Amino acid sequence: MAERHKSLRERIIAAALDLAASGLSPQMSGNVSARNAETILITPSGIPYTALAPDDISEIAMDGKVLAGPHAPSSEWQMHVAIYEAFPEAGGIVHAHSDFATVLAVMKREIPPFHYMVAVAGGRNIRVADYATFGTAVLARNTVAALDGRRACLLAHHGQIAFGETVEAALHLAHEVETLSAQYWRALQIGTPDLLSDEEMAVNVEKFRTYGRRP
Ligand code: 13P
Ligand code: ZN
Repeated sequence: MAERHKSLRERIIAAALDLAASGLSPQMSGNVSARNAETILITPSGIPYTALAPDDISEIAMDGKVLAGPHAPSSEWQMHVAIYEAFPEAGGIVHAHSDFATVLAVMKREIPPFHYMVAVAGGRNIRVADYATFGTAVLARNTVAALDGRRACLLAHHGQIAFGETVEAALHLAHEVETLSAQYWRALQIGTPDLLSDEEMAVNVEKFRTYGRRP
């Protein structure tokens, strides 16, 4: 089914199933949300993705009030709300505990400009948000700070988070972050890669603004 024919709830489930099937965030680790005009649709807390039906997706107000859904919303709803509030262009968010991004995150190693694709997240590096307990307002604040000028960051001792104009774009970026994390980790096994200059990364960031769009 073409994405445009799916409801927003079905698109969230499709992204969640991809997290499980691709191994990006197995079982029920991570979470997925989409902006729905004035409200947010978000995966429920602690329910395996493969068990989700459209009505299981929680609808919450920006203050966290549950408007619809039989389960508690994701414990990270404050992180999702904070991103939608700070970044008006955000339409979808994917949070994952993907292996290589998490390895870098537990070492508090940001992804530096070792590859031009780092610019796909919006800047010269992909930062690590300071650690805070999962599901807290402090983690939400730390995450928004690390996302300044970016669409993705790592979360210390936790994982990664990515947003996009759509939930599909957010999922795509989460995969890119995992690929870059794996490549950077592998490069570190045989040495220390040279880094691209700020000037070169500024060119790459600019090119990504129009990359893949028709002239
Ligand atoms: P939820 O199941 O509550 O979304 O939590 C998963 C998670 O990754 C917490 O950071
Ligand atoms: Zn998590």
